[in-house]
Amino acid sequence: MKDVSQYKNKHILVLGLAKSGFAASKLLHSLEAHVIVNDAKPLEENTQAKELESLGIQVICGAHPLSLLDGPIDFIVKNPGIPYTNPIVEEAVKRNISVITEIELASQLSEADMIAITGSNGKTTTTTLLVEMLKNSEKEPLVAGNIGTVACEVVQNAKPNHIIVTEVSSFQLQGTENFHPKVAVFLNLFDAHLDYHGTKENYGLAKANIYKNLDDEDFIVYNADDESVVSLASNAKGQHIPFSLTKKNSNGAYLKSGYVFFQGENIIDINDIVLPGKHNLENILAAVAAAKCCGASTTQIQNVLTTFAGVEHRVQYVTTIDNRKFYNDSKATNILAAKAAISAFQEPVILLAGGLDRGNSFDDLIPALRSVKAVITFGQTQEKILAAAAEAGVDYCKKAVNAADAVRIAYDLSDEGDVVLLSPACASWDQYKTYEERGHEFIQAVENLKR
Ligand code: ADP
Repeated sequence: MKDVSQYKNKHILVLGLAKSGFAASKLLHSLEAHVIVNDAKPLEENTQAKELESLGIQVICGAHPLSLLDGPIDFIVKNPGIPYTNPIVEEAVKRNISVITEIELASQLSEADMIAITGSNGKTTTTTLLVEMLKNSEKEPLVAGNIGTVACEVVQNAKPNHIIVTEVSSFQLQGTENFHPKVAVFLNLFDAHLDYHGTKENYGLAKANIYKNLDDEDFIVYNADDESVVSLASNAKGQHIPFSLTKKNSNGAYLKSGYVFFQGENIIDINDIVLPGKHNLENILAAVAAAKCCGASTTQIQNVLTTFAGVEHRVQYVTTIDNRKFYNDSKATNILAAKAAISAFQEPVILLAGGLDRGNSFDDLIPALRSVKAVITFGQTQEKILAAAAEAGVDYCKKAVNAADAVRIAYDLSDEGDVVLLSPACASWDQYKTYEERGHEFIQAVENLKR
């Protein structure tokens, strides 16, 4: 970690705990800042807040009183999940108090370069692939963020011979000021999180913060097949490295005669790639491009692509029962993700979908539903999904109570050779604590069925 003194004696308000706020509070406290932690969860139920209090950090829990802004505050570290419409954040912005997220803080302290990966879908898969591809390279990869350790913790042990690979959401990027990755990967942009950002334009602009501080030596790896991504990348500084399933751009990663190429080099026969689905091929092209920009060897990339079978809850193969294959894609929390998963299969698909109703329609799912054999739906969006399936002419639609119930119904109507796919196209919070819980319930139900 850089030897910094700029936080000493600074007054910093950490808004919202969870893993990132907790790590940021501890780090800033160790750097001798005056930290005040404010979390909505009452102290009695808040083990993280209690732990911070025992370190001597001032903790205010149960609400976000505006009076917190009346004391001296140099800046706020906001949990990415707290929206800018929260009154305390609105008021802080009005008073010109800088509001950053934990990734900004981490990047200010990091001695290692960073590779940042953003996009509506595919971040975790691409991050995981890239970390594997960078192993045995000149710089040792460290994974930070969503799937690894919080960035603020990772940077404490990162040295210049490391490279930090981190996925960054629009929520995190909106709170960046000097965040400066060496490689910025932008996968795709879909109408997601509009409840937070208001419009797709604002959502895209938040994500485009990934480019804000790049210079000419940095790399921009971007999806040349996605118009919104192309347009956001167009004015960014840095070496532009496009990837595309359809266009052969000799400067980037592309497909030619069934092979993956990078800047004229034949990397791998796509038949040798284990990871299923066209969407994953996009993630692979992005990972290959970023890995190559960072000096990864072709042999290492090939080793990864011929063995890596996917990340849990992302079109994850579970098992086969009586010649029916079961896949868990519980992480498909939006329509684009579910469409990608459905199109990954040649076999007849029985789709298990539904969940939290964010107020959107499912019209965008209709084209994908046309190729589906049956739909079993559960959760708040049940009726909307049934309507979309009817519109698509799906022969068999049925309501289930939850993911486990849907497994039993799906099995009863399945035939040999079918795929049973949990790809809900919705968040899970109407019935489950997390998408992982939903995925595990699915897996458990499949295992029960097998028994
Ligand atoms: P993220 O971290 O961005 O949520 P994941 O790798 O966890 O992305 O994948 C989330 C879901 O999105 C998966 O269920 C998968 O079906 C779908 N998905 C993954 N990559 C892509 C892509 N490039 N385009 C569209 N959908 C994708």
